[in-house]
Amino acid sequence: MSQALSVLQSVFGYPSFRGQQAEIVDHVIDGGDALVLMPTGGGKSLCYQIPALVRDGVAIVVSPLIALMSDQVAALRELGVSAAYLNSTLALDEQQRIEAELVNGTIDLVYVAPERLLQPRMLARLANSPVSLFAIDEAHCVSQWGHDFRPEYRGLARLAETFPDVPRIALTATADLRTREEIIEQLGLAQAAHYVHSFDRPNIQYRVAERGSAKQQLQDFIDREHARDAGIVYCLSRKKVEETADWLSNTGREALPYHAGLSPALRAHNQARFLREEGVIMVATVAFGMGIDKPDVRFVAHLDLPSSMEAYYQETGRAGRDGEPATAWMLYGLGDAVQRRRMIEQGNAPAERKRVEHAKLDAILAFCELATCRRIHLLAYFGEQREAACGNCDTCLNPPETYNATRYARIALSAIYRTGQRFGTGYIVDHLRGVHSERAESLGHNALSTAGLGEEMAAKSWRSILRQLVALGYVRVEHAYGGLQLDGSCRELLRGEETLELRIDRKAKKSRTPRVKK
Ligand code: ADP
Ligand code: ZN
Repeated sequence: MSQALSVLQSVFGYPSFRGQQAEIVDHVIDGGDALVLMPTGGGKSLCYQIPALVRDGVAIVVSPLIALMSDQVAALRELGVSAAYLNSTLALDEQQRIEAELVNGTIDLVYVAPERLLQPRMLARLANSPVSLFAIDEAHCVSQWGHDFRPEYRGLARLAETFPDVPRIALTATADLRTREEIIEQLGLAQAAHYVHSFDRPNIQYRVAERGSAKQQLQDFIDREHARDAGIVYCLSRKKVEETADWLSNTGREALPYHAGLSPALRAHNQARFLREEGVIMVATVAFGMGIDKPDVRFVAHLDLPSSMEAYYQETGRAGRDGEPATAWMLYGLGDAVQRRRMIEQGNAPAERKRVEHAKLDAILAFCELATCRRIHLLAYFGEQREAACGNCDTCLNPPETYNATRYARIALSAIYRTGQRFGTGYIVDHLRGVHSERAESLGHNALSTAGLGEEMAAKSWRSILRQLVALGYVRVEHAYGGLQLDGSCRELLRGEETLELRIDRKAKKSRTPRVKK
């Protein structure tokens, strides 16, 4: 039996490795560098803990959160492994004791925060210590594109230069292609072996519906498909959490609110009931979910657009951990895009960060507007190629009808252009439909050639077209006020050099087939 397997069994009490663990562990024990991408719960910790025990010397584990460190260390000590963490919460003599063990090599794992690791004093200590490997946990923190960028992580780049002979293993659960590229570049892992676990969750059915009367749509969805099941409903604001929980409670369901505005005691109480009782619905902001391991969550519903594809994947990933069928259901309307843009603009983030946030929003909008398999798109976002449509998402189950929308798109684009690229969807739709208003009159817009040009088409259909034009990147939503502006990419379309197929929204379709006056 290999030494790794014997440690797995004797120390951790597990009979066998999972997935790629055995390969990863062997590679690192042999002194190789590795990048490991594995979904949460996949078993990343063992990938460095076992090499730490098998290789001579002390493994240094870089981890961003003090709470996480102390949990991990406590769990290891429970198993009889000699492990410790170094951070500012420790008394000085305690720190000195651990540093002495580090230098003497009498401890197997030391967890440390990156800023601490990079202190010159600490680096000097390490240079005189028998370091067996560096494990960089939550490696996505090194990426600016990632959702929790930590500038301290950037400093880890120097480990490769300072300790060229010590293997490094970087691990993360969330890394789309761009984040992955940044990790590789920043941590110098181009030569490392890359282990990418599939991110597919085949038992989750992905669905996106156009928002009408949201609470009623939610209730219908739950009644029809999850009348007794446990689930999570995500809302953007605390107020909406409260309202939605009340609404569901009035329909006879056990629905509990969870958001950062509730007292810690109430939050803990609601969370405990969700975990313990059957069929409880948690209505929550994104504050809920980290570290929640409830296997039989049967649905995750989003009443508001998540902030990014990563957030969507993480949040929907809380459904169906037991592998049984589960639903990821989301409502979406153009209002989401406008609201999200405004939130980004009004935030305090530096301009560069805002640019990233807008780009992430674009990605999730495009996902919402897909006319093709959502799973293929979702996995592609995480760098995973998949050819076959999944058969378990709404676009696979009910392929949306498309139509040649070139003419309508051109009319809409012209209307945006002629009215000066300052107005929001509502105004443009009214303009196209020739709805009379004093504002339009006073601005002279009624005299434009586009005024009333789309009179015969329902407002809903026009909204659908505008929404898709935004999602496809032809039209941008101006950040502060939601004004629509043309993107350079619409030039070919305007010139008639490109044709455009758009989706017929089920709801828009019922009202009227797109038709405009000649
Ligand atoms: P991650 O860090 O990827 O989220 P963890 O390392 O915390 O995942 O592992 C998730 C759970 O799976 C833990 O309870 C862990 O003990 C368990 N686990 C990991 N590897 C194995 C294995 N080979 N056999 C059985 N259980 C495992
Ligand atoms: Zn599909």
